[in-house]
Amino acid sequence: MARVYERVALIGLGLIAGSMAHAMKRHGLAGHVAGHARSAETREAARQIGFVDSVHATAAEAVQGADLVVLAVPVGAMSAVAAEIAPHLQPGTTLTDVGSVKQAVIDAVGPHVPESVHFIPSHPLAGTEHSGPYSGFASLFENRWWLLTPPEGADEAAVQRLRSLYEGMGANVDTMEAGHHDMVLAVVSHTPHLIAYTMVGVADHLRRVSQSEVIKYSATGFRDFTRIAASDPTMWRDVFLTNKEATLDVLGRFTEELFVLQRAIRMGDGDHLFDYFTRTRAIRRGIIEAGQDIDAPDFGRGRKG
Ligand code: NAP
Repeated sequence: MARVYERVALIGLGLIAGSMAHAMKRHGLAGHVAGHARSAETREAARQIGFVDSVHATAAEAVQGADLVVLAVPVGAMSAVAAEIAPHLQPGTTLTDVGSVKQAVIDAVGPHVPESVHFIPSHPLAGTEHSGPYSGFASLFENRWWLLTPPEGADEAAVQRLRSLYEGMGANVDTMEAGHHDMVLAVVSHTPHLIAYTMVGVADHLRRVSQSEVIKYSATGFRDFTRIAASDPTMWRDVFLTNKEATLDVLGRFTEELFVLQRAIRMGDGDHLFDYFTRTRAIRRGIIEAGQDIDAPDFGRGRKG
């Protein structure tokens, strides 16, 4: 694969930045990858793992001479990092981020970006419940969507170049407007996470059950909630603080549906429940047909005994 950028600076060295570094190395997409993380511990881990070519004590130092700068820190930290690096960005550089929310990042970062810099926000729809420098891997983005939300009038060549980088990592790239992105993500990711957090919280409150039975019998469905609810608390706190309106809107709709189902159960309305579950089953089939999951029973987990 051809080199897309000469020097890439990754600010933040956790799951997403680490996976990008591994993928860029594997596919030869960048000449040099520089990195910075807040803590000395993470910087040392990055040195040990060796997924970046140089590790820097400050973000300002890491972005020197970079033709691509990636902000891969929690959404709530984007503004401070952007303010720090802005005076050190070279003209013509592309600045992107990988934050899970887009409008709030544009509002936080945009005002700091010099006119000579191409700011093209982005979001990979890929992740795991793990975080930190040891959690990244090269294939994370393969066959996953990576959404770009370029502002109106963005430089077409700069957008195209960023798209080539992500495609080089195996991702499928789409562009959309930032507000629309936030609404779509509230439906497919943010609200489901909140529901998982809630369900695990409910079980935790029911101490009598959760002592041992919840763990023992968790394979019945609860286990998948616990995996999602193990996601990074900082990241998810920031997602809900910054995608407030869209998640509240979707939660409102969710609550209405839940009450309708609750009523159907109370009234013994089996037809309603059957029709509802038939429709939701068709949605699952659509996801498999779109290649976004596999059809193996129990998500392809091996069966024991
Ligand atoms: P992560 O594994 O927790 O890594 C976050 C990194 O940011 C760490 O290296 C951390 O450094 C660094 N950091 C935090 N605050 C900082 C600051 N003020 N200045 C400099 N570095 C700072 O998180 P991640 O999962 O890679 O998430 C990064 C971004 O990607 C977030 O905006 C998230 O919304 C987005 N995202 C995540 C997922 C996912 O599933 N995880 C998916 C798509 C997008 P220390 O280790 O030194 O604290």
